[in-house]
Amino acid sequence: MRPHCGAGAVMLQAGGDPAVAQGHKMDFTPTEEQTAIFDMAREFGAERIAPHARAWEAEGTIPKELWRELAGLGFGGLYVSEGAGGSGLSRLDATLVFEALAMACPSVSAFLSIHNMCAAMLDRHAADDLKERFLPQALSMDCLFSYCLTEPGSGSDAAALSTRAERTNAGWRLVGTKAFISGGGYSDAYIVMARSGGDGPRGISAFVVPDGAPGLSFGGLEDKMGWRSQPTRQVQFDGCDIPAGNLLGEEGRGFAYAMAGLDGGRLNIAACSLGAAQAALDATLAYMGERKAFGKTLTALQALQFRLADMEIELQAARVFLRQAASKLDQGAPDATKHCAMAKKFVTEAGSRIADQCLQLHGGYGYLADYGIEKIVRDLRVHQILEGTNEIMRLIVARDMLAGH
Ligand SMILES: Cc1cc2nc3c(=O)[nH]c(=O)nc-3n(C[C@H](O)[C@H](O)[C@H](O)COP(=O)(O)OP(=O)(O)OC[C@H]3O[C@@H](n4cnc5c(N)ncnc54)[C@H](O)[C@@H]3O)c2cc1C
Repeated sequence: MRPHCGAGAVMLQAGGDPAVAQGHKMDFTPTEEQTAIFDMAREFGAERIAPHARAWEAEGTIPKELWRELAGLGFGGLYVSEGAGGSGLSRLDATLVFEALAMACPSVSAFLSIHNMCAAMLDRHAADDLKERFLPQALSMDCLFSYCLTEPGSGSDAAALSTRAERTNAGWRLVGTKAFISGGGYSDAYIVMARSGGDGPRGISAFVVPDGAPGLSFGGLEDKMGWRSQPTRQVQFDGCDIPAGNLLGEEGRGFAYAMAGLDGGRLNIAACSLGAAQAALDATLAYMGERKAFGKTLTALQALQFRLADMEIELQAARVFLRQAASKLDQGAPDATKHCAMAKKFVTEAGSRIADQCLQLHGGYGYLADYGIEKIVRDLRVHQILEGTNEIMRLIVARDMLAGH
């Protein structure tokens, strides 16, 4: 089922012809290949994820076998270059995968996004030896990756992080604590941003820390509102020793790598909100066609029809806005970061609003876990907080608007 992934990349690069690329710039109608990518992910989600999503939430874990199945579809390195064994998809194509999988479970889809962000960091920045040691296993998802930037004392102001990395005779020794790490204590390796130099972003380097490294430990399982199927823990480095070769890319460039990864991460998170909100809307439409009140189905009530129309308008606007941002990132447009930030803010808020409306339109049943909507409401809420809060998204946009004024 995998060949379409490579084919998608060829199609989206439009043969490198700028005139062709220009011609497609504003057309976000999915091509046949994009539709095939979306359908494949959606079918996989419907068969292999949706029926188990509630159980995984109750267990607080996702079976590792699922990741290997997803890797079999080429989803372990969606935008890792084909030369390195990845699927070589554009960012736009990759958002289709996250959108489709989130229709089954946003928590699973978002976890896959984090792993993919790490795999792409390895592909883009790691030296050959480090790449050889970790990338093939990342692609097969035998080695799941987590991304460790946030600390107890620094979240939005990530460049203020204080985890230290000191040189030793054998390599590096890490000391500090990372907070809120998705997959903490569950993943097989961690990409860790730590301070190897002075204050500010240029003093930060990125490192690969494998599970089992001496001095690596984990905090207790965080009890949280949504994303309950994926474990979140603190990751602690108490004199954690790693080899010199586990420095990712150049010393002092770790923050730049971490931020570059986030542009695309924001698209993925927005895509997760989009897919889950679409699933909620689809379920609501079906429910309203069956549920009767005052002798009519809910769909016969014009006040509710207008609510449906408003949700459809908002969701379609969000979809086009997200695709445009993804396309800008693919093209390396100078305003890509701003557009990724705008799309992340707009789509995650639209997604949560729509999911909440869908819960309301289900009446009391929307509040019951059996109907699937309350999980979507809970899962989507965090999308406004992570990968940069939506306040930070506004900060990025406002800075760009005010530059030069
Ligand atoms: C479930 C979950 C999973 C996560 N997974 C990961 C992960 O895998 N890896 C990782 O590194 N991190 C992860 N995070 C951390 C997440 O990225 C941070 O929580 C987020 O960046 C916000 O940081 P903070 O919580 O410290 O909030 P703060 O930075 O303390 O912000 C508090 C409030 O102040 C606002 N604020 C802060 N500064 C400004 C400003 N300049 N202007 C306006 N408003 C501002 C914020 O928007 C927010 O509303 C996760 C978080 C959660 C909840």
